[in-house]
Amino acid sequence: MTATISPSTFDTRILSLPLYEDHHRELAQRLVTWCAEHQDLLAAAGQPEADGLRILHALGDAGWLAFLDGGPDDYRALCLAREALAYRGDLADYAFSIQALAATPIRRFGTDDQRRRYLPGLAAGTLCGAFAVSEESAGSDVAAISLDARETETGWMLNGGKAWVANAGVADVYTVIARTGPGPGAFGLSAFLVPGTTPGLRVEPVPMIAPRAFGHLVFDDCALPREALLGRRGGGFPVAMEVLDRFRMTVGAAALGFARRAADAALARARDRPMLGGKLFDLPTVRAAFADMEVKLDAAALLVARSAWEIDHGGPRYARDSAVAKLYATEVAQEVVDSAVQIFGAAGLVRDSLLERLYRQIRSLRIYEGSSEVQQAVIASAIDPHRTHRGAS
Ligand SMILES: Cc1cc2nc3c(=O)[nH]c(=O)nc-3n(C[C@H](O)[C@H](O)[C@H](O)COP(=O)(O)OP(=O)(O)OC[C@H]3O[C@@H](n4cnc5c(N)ncnc54)[C@H](O)[C@@H]3O)c2cc1C
Repeated sequence: MTATISPSTFDTRILSLPLYEDHHRELAQRLVTWCAEHQDLLAAAGQPEADGLRILHALGDAGWLAFLDGGPDDYRALCLAREALAYRGDLADYAFSIQALAATPIRRFGTDDQRRRYLPGLAAGTLCGAFAVSEESAGSDVAAISLDARETETGWMLNGGKAWVANAGVADVYTVIARTGPGPGAFGLSAFLVPGTTPGLRVEPVPMIAPRAFGHLVFDDCALPREALLGRRGGGFPVAMEVLDRFRMTVGAAALGFARRAADAALARARDRPMLGGKLFDLPTVRAAFADMEVKLDAAALLVARSAWEIDHGGPRYARDSAVAKLYATEVAQEVVDSAVQIFGAAGLVRDSLLERLYRQIRSLRIYEGSSEVQQAVIASAIDPHRTHRGAS
C-alpha cells in the first residue's frame, strides 16, 4: 500500500515501520491525494489573512479538523498532517496547526459548555482559534506573564497585552493565559477563553518575515463573564505547558515537510542543470551535500515518529522526546533549506521563488513553541547524571 505514496512527501520506508499503524499509512495516502488536488489553494500566499481563512475552511470541509471535536488524540496523525501540509505551503500548515493548538486546551480542560460552544466550529473550520501565551517580556519565561486578570462581581477584567500571536486579527476565540494571583510565578496564572469581538480587545498587526495573520493583543478593561475561565483558577501554567509539550514534536514534523520540499526541488535542479559538460549532480561536493541532507531528513523523521509514538502510547517521556524531535528537526531543516538554496545558486534567492520562500518560512520554527535553547534545557533536565544505561533517565 505504501508504495503508491509519493516518496517526496513521506518516506515510505519510515512509514512502514511498526512505529505506525495501517490507519496512519492510509491517512498518509489520503493526505497526499488531497494535498495534490488542492495544491494551488494550499500554496496561496498573496493575501495571507484571507488565504489562511480560505485554507482553514477547506480543511474543515474536507474533515481534516474533525478530530478536534471528540476525536481521539493521535499525535502520529497530527504529525503526518503537518508534514504533508508544510510540504505544500506555509499557510496550509499554519492554518491547520494553529487551529489544533487553539482547540487542544478546550478539548483537555474545557467544561461541557465550553466544548459545545467552540469545538464544533473549530472542527468544521467555521470558527478560527488562537492560543495567546507570549508577552513582550515573557516569551521563553512563561512564568513571567503579567497580563492582569482581576476578579469582578460578574467575572473578570483583563488589562495588559499579549505578543506574537498567530491568527491575531482573524481568530474568533483566543485562549489567553493571564495572571489572576500574585504567584509565585507560575502558580498565579489562569487560562481564559476570549471571543475575538470582546469589547476592550484590540489587535496590533505585526508584519513577519513569512507573511501571515499575526500580531499583538491589547486588553484595555476587557470584561469577561465568569464562565470564560478555562480549567481551574491558578491552573494556567499547566494548560500552557501541557499543550506546548505535546505540540513541539509537530513543529518538528512541519520542519520535515519544508525541508523535504527544498531537498526535492534542489535534486530536480541538480539533476537537470548542465555543469562542466555534465550535470550539477555529477559533482562530488554536490553529491555529498545531498548525502548530508538524506541523513538529516532520515534522522529527523525517525525522531518525530518516536516522539509521536511515545505520546500515543502514554509514555512518560513524551515531553523530553518531543523536545528532542523539535530541536533536531528544526535545526537540520534550516540546514537542509540552506543547502538547497546553495545548490540553486542565484536562482534560489529570487524574491517569492519557492526556495526563497522556504528560506524565510523555515526560520521561525527554531523560535516558536520554545527556542532551540529552551529545548536543550528541557532535554538536559531529563538527564540523570547517575544513570547506568541509556534510556534509564
Ligand atoms: C512565527 C511565530 C509564531 C508564534 N506564535 C505564537 C502564538 O500563537 N502564541 C504565543 O503565545 N506565542 C507565539 N509566538 C511567540 C513564541 O512562542 C516566542 O517567540 C518564543 O517563546 C520565544 O520568546 P521570545 O521571542 O520572547 O524570545 P526570548 O524569550 O527573549 O528568548 C530569546 C532567546 O534567548 C535565548 N533563551 C531564552 N531562554 C533560554 C533558556 N532557558 N536557556 C538558554 N537560552 C535561552 C534563546 O536563544 C532565545 O531564542 C510565536 C513566535 C513566532 C516567531
